[in-house]
Amino acid sequence: MINENYVSKTVASLPPSGIRKFFDLAANMEGVVSLGVGEPDFVTSWSVREAAIHSLEEGRTSYTANAGLLELRKEIAGYMEQAFNVSYQPEHQILVTVGASEGIDLALRSIINPGEEVLVVSPCFVSYAPLVTMAGGVPKIIHTTGENQFKLTPAELEDAITPNTKAMIICSPNNPTGTQLNKEELIKITEIIKKNDLLVIADEIYAELAYDESFTSFASVGDMINRTILINGFSKSFAMTGWRLGFVCAPREILEAMLKLHQYTMMCAPTMAQYGALEALKHGWDDVEDMRSSYRQRRNYIVKSFNEIGLACHNPGGAFYAFPSIAKTGLSSQSFAEKLLLEERVAVVPGDVFGESGEGYIRCSYASSMAQLQEAVKRIARFMKNYQ
Ligand code: PMP
Repeated sequence: MINENYVSKTVASLPPSGIRKFFDLAANMEGVVSLGVGEPDFVTSWSVREAAIHSLEEGRTSYTANAGLLELRKEIAGYMEQAFNVSYQPEHQILVTVGASEGIDLALRSIINPGEEVLVVSPCFVSYAPLVTMAGGVPKIIHTTGENQFKLTPAELEDAITPNTKAMIICSPNNPTGTQLNKEELIKITEIIKKNDLLVIADEIYAELAYDESFTSFASVGDMINRTILINGFSKSFAMTGWRLGFVCAPREILEAMLKLHQYTMMCAPTMAQYGALEALKHGWDDVEDMRSSYRQRRNYIVKSFNEIGLACHNPGGAFYAFPSIAKTGLSSQSFAEKLLLEERVAVVPGDVFGESGEGYIRCSYASSMAQLQEAVKRIARFMKNYQ
């Protein structure tokens, strides 16, 4: 037994990720249909893989510029301009990171002074609140509600702001709810952000996976570009989770602060992955369109099926998650997920791991084959008959 004080008290106090528990359980069982994992079921396009292989064949195995290959940053700037109508200088306002995950961490550590509050719009990706804590800040959770499809309302935002609030972190389209905010909703939120002189960390990793309405970036609303740290990456849109490549766009001063930290901790994002990403941005768009329409088709199937079998489910505008209510069963999210796994061998994630307001819901990833989805629906329908 080593000295228990070896581990920092702050880290020791963080909760473990609630998603893992179910994966570990499911991993030891046979015949499990998993709607658990939050990643694309596609393999990265061959041309992207080939570009990375080619970079290795050419011997490009050293560090790149700390901020990432300038050619890649220029390509990102072009993409941001064309897709989201936002203009960033590749030399000063774009940083290539080790996944969106690093971008979120750098953003928080670059702006927070000890004790400052960061509003975390929940239910949300599990890393936000722990990363705020590790950055020395205080996460202040805003609980959005299922009745409003988990859309942040101006009143909820206004209520949460105190003189200590520094920033808000928000994700649209959202993990775990799939909810996407439209332009009008963003305008109302950003008015309050501006009035209170706050920053926004906008996690837009699912921007390319919007199925019904066109996606509006936080940074494109009014002059929000001056107070938005925009997080994006290649994991979801180009099916590149294992490549560990993301990027951040931000006002110059903030980006320079982030770059300072990135230099100390990462030096640069993986070189071969950057060459792959360059190819993805240049020539990968047909595949993105194909993946998007495949997800849309699966979204339509799962949402319709869930509603038919008694799992009330709003139509998620983006990402690849359905977030149905399990209220009819009277079970808690944890016990629903546990029983479903043990009795029917279907893995889902209990909604409460994404925040208190996720209680009463489950997250089902539909980034799985149609055959698997159909099998899952069949099993869940059987399960629901026993619990209504
Ligand atoms: N943000 C959200 C909302 C996510 O769902 C994920 C991945 N599950 C990430 C960030 C992290 O993405 P990356 O693989 O680029 O680190």
